[in-house]
Amino acid sequence: AKAEGRGAFRMFEPAMAERMQARNRMETDLRRALAAGEFELHFQPLVDVQSGEVTAAEALVRWRHPEQGLISPADFIPLAEETGLIVPLGEWVLRTACTQAASWPQEIKVAVNLSPVQVRDDRLPETVAAILREIGLEPGRLELEITEGVLLDGEERTLAMLTRLRAIGVGLAMDDFGTGYSSLSYLRRFPFSKIKIDRSFVCLLPDDAESAAIVRAIITMGAGLGMATTVEGVENAEQYAFVAAEHCGQVQGYHVSRPLPGPAFLGFLSGMEAA
Ligand code: C2E
Ligand code: CA
Ligand code: CA
Ligand code: CA
Repeated sequence: AKAEGRGAFRMFEPAMAERMQARNRMETDLRRALAAGEFELHFQPLVDVQSGEVTAAEALVRWRHPEQGLISPADFIPLAEETGLIVPLGEWVLRTACTQAASWPQEIKVAVNLSPVQVRDDRLPETVAAILREIGLEPGRLELEITEGVLLDGEERTLAMLTRLRAIGVGLAMDDFGTGYSSLSYLRRFPFSKIKIDRSFVCLLPDDAESAAIVRAIITMGAGLGMATTVEGVENAEQYAFVAAEHCGQVQGYHVSRPLPGPAFLGFLSGMEAA
């Protein structure tokens, strides 16, 4: 078995070396891209189901690569996290999102995704506060989206960090709610102001009875805890009607709009862009 194992290892060696090289090339490329300003933000509106108005937008990063075109975050965020480049990239995202939000004609919120790696960085609250001050954006207009991954780090540490962030006056949303192991206990322990119900519970709506029961229960629970609820991944009118009838707070998804580049988002806000 031992010999077999070694043989198998040798067989995989070239593939592993190839993967390592590709990873190193991409890391170098990521560093270059950050310096060259190749990242951009797209904004996806969140609509309040009561008023039908846009009340917030989520900033979603993209990499406009000179040769490969637009690269989605799923393809570079993991490596940015592994290499620590997510810290400067995340700071760029925060600053850019807040700068854009300050220029929007309506005082809607901007939501920014934080990687667990950023939340582990002790300087994060100072960075956030400094950016808000520098730009002159009211803290209440920024909402930070955090997934459960962040909470695996140690509860005391995470609680201290999230408490410091909340003290600045920014909102804290629990992203992809329901996909982790301990969503419920985390909701009670940590100072979240919003729940974002993960798309995986929405995609089978309205016909799937289990999805319907889960979404209904999360919305009710959010209301009971005094938290706003956003349903993400709403792709059609039937899904929108279902979650609106359940009195969720906000809806986000392709049915309202795809994420839009800055100028197109402004167009959407002024009603020039079709939904
Ligand atoms: P997320 O935070 O859950 O963001 C929502 C994702 O769902 C976005 O994908 C969005 O384009 C997509 N989406 C929105 N509405 C719909 C819909 O109706 N149907 C479907 N099928 N998809 C929808 P995107 O932009 O590719 O981002 C993927 C993930 O990358 C995000 O998931 C987030 O975890 C991460 N990400 C994006 N921007 C940043 C960033 O600036 N920093 C960090 N750390 N992560 C980011
Ligand atoms: Ca998010
Ligand atoms: Ca999400
Ligand atoms: Ca998600």
